[in-house]
Parts: sequence; C-alpha cells; structure tokens
Amino acid sequence: MKALDTLAEHIGKDKVIHEHESRALYPCPSQAARHIIGVAKPHNIKDVQAIVAWANTHNIKLYPLSTGRNWGYGGGNPVEEDCLIVDMGDMDQIRNFDPDLGSITLQPGVTQGDLYNFLTDHSYPFFAPVTGSSPHCSLIGNALERGYGVTPITDHFQGITEVKAVLADGSIYQGQLDQMDVESSKLAKWGAGPYVEGLFSQGNFGIVVEATIKLEAKTDHSIMIIFKPSDDAEDFEQVVRISRELMQTQKKVVSAIKYFNKAYSVALNMPVPRDELAAPDFDITAWLNDASKKHRLPEWLGLIFIYGNDDLAHIAARECKKRLAPHCKSIVIFDRKKIKLARAANKILPNIKPLQMIKAQIDTVSASYDLLRGMPQSRFLKAAYWRAGELPDNQDDYHPGRDGCGLIWYAPMLPMTGKDLLKFEQITKDVCARHGIFPVVSMTTISEQCITALVPIMFDPATESEQAFACHKDLFESCQAAGSLPYRAHIDSMAWYGADNQTTHFQSALQKAKQHIDADGLMSPGRYQRRKA
Ligand SMILES: Cc1cc2nc3c(=O)[nH]c(=O)nc-3n(C[C@H](O)[C@H](O)[C@H](O)COP(=O)(O)OP(=O)(O)OC[C@H]3O[C@@H](n4cnc5c(N)ncnc54)[C@H](O)[C@@H]3O)c2cc1C
Repeated sequence: MKALDTLAEHIGKDKVIHEHESRALYPCPSQAARHIIGVAKPHNIKDVQAIVAWANTHNIKLYPLSTGRNWGYGGGNPVEEDCLIVDMGDMDQIRNFDPDLGSITLQPGVTQGDLYNFLTDHSYPFFAPVTGSSPHCSLIGNALERGYGVTPITDHFQGITEVKAVLADGSIYQGQLDQMDVESSKLAKWGAGPYVEGLFSQGNFGIVVEATIKLEAKTDHSIMIIFKPSDDAEDFEQVVRISRELMQTQKKVVSAIKYFNKAYSVALNMPVPRDELAAPDFDITAWLNDASKKHRLPEWLGLIFIYGNDDLAHIAARECKKRLAPHCKSIVIFDRKKIKLARAANKILPNIKPLQMIKAQIDTVSASYDLLRGMPQSRFLKAAYWRAGELPDNQDDYHPGRDGCGLIWYAPMLPMTGKDLLKFEQITKDVCARHGIFPVVSMTTISEQCITALVPIMFDPATESEQAFACHKDLFESCQAAGSLPYRAHIDSMAWYGADNQTTHFQSALQKAKQHIDADGLMSPGRYQRRKA
C-alpha cells in the first residue's frame, strides 16, 4: 500500500510492516481473522503522534494493542476490517519505581515476565500482577481489557492509578494532577474531578502510551486450599455461601476463590477422546460421567487463595477449613512447607503409568502455588491445546493462536450465590449439548459479591468452527434471557450487546462522548460498540 510508504517516511522503515508480511502476526485460537493493511511499531510518543496524524490524513483506522495475545477474545485482530495495527510492544520501558510505595510506571510493551524479572533481580518485595496466560503478555494490555489474576490485586484495571494516552487528534491525555506535578498524582487512582481514565479501559478512546500501577507488597505467607465439595447441590450452595462470608469477613487475607466443574476436572486429567469423538452418536455427557466416575473426580473442585503474615494466614486457613468441612469430601491446605514436600515427593515417584496422573496433579498444584506467589507460568496455556493444536516441546514457546488450537472464551459475571452458579452451569450444559461442545466451566471471584464464570468453548478448527460460533451465540442469548452477560467480549460478540434495532442509553452516551473525542471513529472502530449484527 502506497500510503504505508509515506508512514515509513515519517517514523522510519523499520517501524512499518506491510500487509503481506503482517498477515499471520496476531492469530487467535478463536480463529477470528480480519484483514489488516499493515502494522506500525512506534518507539516513542512522537512516533505515536506521527502515526495518528498520518492516519487522519489518509483516513485509515487504527487498532492499538500492546502484545496482541488477547487469545480467545480475538487475539490481535481488530473488530473491523482494514485497520492499521499500532503494536506498542517495542515501547517496553519500566520507569519511576518507588520501592517504598510500590508504585511503578510501565510502557505497554512491558510483560508479566519483564516485571517479575525486574522485581526478583532487585529483590523488591512486591507481587507482579500475573494471570494464567503467557509471561509474554502485556500488563497494560491485560489491565485495559480488565483482565484478572490471583495475586492480591486480582482486578488488574483496579491496580491502574494513572494513564497517559495519545488521542485521535494527536493531542496527549494526561491526568490533571500529573500535569500539575502533584506528587501523589500517581498514587491516587481517582485524582480530582471526573474519572476520565476509565474511558481507556475497554473504551478505545486513545492509544495508551504509559500507565502507572500499584503493586501489592509480598506477604510472608501464601496459602492455597484445595477442597472438594460433596456432590450434593445443596452442599455446593452452602460452600458458596461460606466462601462468600469468608471473603466478606477476612478482607485482603482471603483474596480470591475459584470453582471448577466436573467437566473441567476431566479435561485437566484426561486426554480428549479423539477417536470416539468422530463417531456420529458420541455422547459428551455420558463420556464425562464415565470418565469422572472412573477417576473419582468431584462435581466441583474449589481453590482458595490466602495472603497474610505469620499467624494471620494460618488462622484464616484453619477457619476456612473448619467452616467448609461439613460440606466437603476433602480439604487440603498447601503452604510453602507442604509444597516443598510435594515437589520432593514428585521427584522420587517413578514415572510409571499408574502414578502419572498423581505426578501431573502435583505439578499443577505446585505451578498454581508459584502463580499465587506472582511468578508467571506458561504451563496453564497447555489447557488451550486440549481439544486441538500442536503443543510445542518448549513451554516458553506456547502460542495457542499460532498452533492450530480452537478456543473462544465466554466470560459472564454472576451474583455470588450457589443458586446463581448452579443455574449458570445448567445453562452451559444445555447449550453446549446442543452444539457438541464440552461444557467446561471455571469461576473466579472478582469481589465477595460477584464472580466471573469462564467457559472455554474448545473446538477443532478443522471441523468445528461453525459449531463453536453457534455455541458462543447461543450461550450469549441464553444467558441474556437468564439475566447474565460477559464482562469482557470476543470481537465477534461486541455487537451483540443491546436489543435489536435499539440503542441503549449507555450506547447513546458513549456515542456522544466519541463524537467529541474521536468524531471520525479513528480508534479501534467497533470495539465494545453496538453495530448491527
Ligand atoms: C489458556 C489461557 C489462559 C488465560 N488466562 C487468563 C487469565 O488468567 N486472566 C486474563 O485476564 N486473561 C487470560 N487469558 C486471556 C489473554 O491471553 C490475556 O488476557 C492477555 O493478557 C491479553 O493479551 P495482551 O496482554 O497481549 O493484551 P493485548 O492483546 O495487547 O490488548 C488487549 C486489548 O486491549 C486494547 N489495548 C491494548 N493495549 C492498548 C494500548 N496501548 N492502547 C489502547 N488500547 C490498547 C486493545 O483493544 C487490545 O486488543 C488467557 C488466555 C488463554 C489462552
């Protein structure tokens, strides 16, 4: 494209990738694919402003991203066709770290792994806000999408205290107090006046060039409790009530709680039945029931993450155990000592078939514990290869977008009551059964009131892409009818919010704001915006 040559003249040839070279750069396991006209890779704010000026002159839409690994939600694919990707990955500096207050300014290219290495290399006692995705994922990209993890500030946009961005007219957005050199501007999330920074989270009002985040100080103890509720639905409801109460009363110590349904445990422990799946009468529900019976896997599995110093963490863990025990088949508390023992035992255990499942389970528990301590891990990406995909030998090379996996995340928010969680799981089972998809569900608390369910719609891209898309749409519609919708959307589902042919009050207010800040829709057109389906 000729216009790209003029961009290269402004910012340098090495920072522009042409369409034919960029086609396969940002793949998603959901198999979403949009045509892009090329990629610009700025090195500084001046480059970003030059790209925006060029895009305005040539009427080209921009799609900024940080590391483009938004796997399962569209990867690095824009929502609309023919955008220029602005890949911020080369802006990867760490600045202004305050080792007393734990405040740090990052450029978008700084990854979970970079921050973890920075903190460990200098022995700074703070957690990196990690996720179950790759260590090569951007901290800012994840936070702008409202990603979450397990370390104490689980909601990553919550951890952002300040944002600097380039707007569609090339001007800079900067917090008022920051520009006035107020020292605490990077420490106080809300600043003074209206909270404008929120517009950059799932808002696409500009290209974020840096952000300051708050890091949580490391505690002496991190404890992980693994529990199996009794199979009775009433017991599960009681478990959810007690977990909620534990989070309400032990704020900051009981940090997050997760639940995994039976299908999840099966997928975690057994390979997909590839040959049987080809049979036209293969019954997923029957297979899951058989597999779970054979390996004595529970209806639900729970995890509790606890952070605290000395007695505090252990007292909280004992309290969790005591209160959950009447409704559980088993509860095991893992602290640093127990994890050390488990690792040692795993080294001694022979690698023979009858022990392989136990060894793999110990590995998973020990990696989950490392994640809890803020150490990013590639190994959880392996889950994306369960249904399809070529798993690389080297964990560091896992890239489900590139490796032929099939995965769409469906992530609705639910009230944290047992009834609501069970109702949602039943909807998932019914919908997935209609489309021949495994009804795998996990859930993670985002507060003591609200939990996010995560359904990985796993499919074989060679044969099941249409099935997966239909399942995604059906889940969205069935959940909407039941009163729940995702907090974070795949690029295909962004247009599904709101009733047909009606603009919601929310969308109409958003359009008015866009009219003023980005009248020509230069930034990420279609992203979290209502368009006709
Ligand atoms: C097996 C598996 C496990 C996963 N586990 C988790 C998990 O535990 N938690 C979680 O949150 N996610 C998880 N993910 C999803 C995803 O991989 C991560 O959220 C990842 O961090 C997002 O990709 P990224 O960091 O490269 O962000 P990007 O893809 O760079 O950014 C995401 C979006 O944010 C916007 N954006 C990014 N940067 C900018 C910028 N500078 N300016 C303006 N807009 C911008 C863009 O719209 C972009 O598309 C998982 C995925 C898989 C496959």
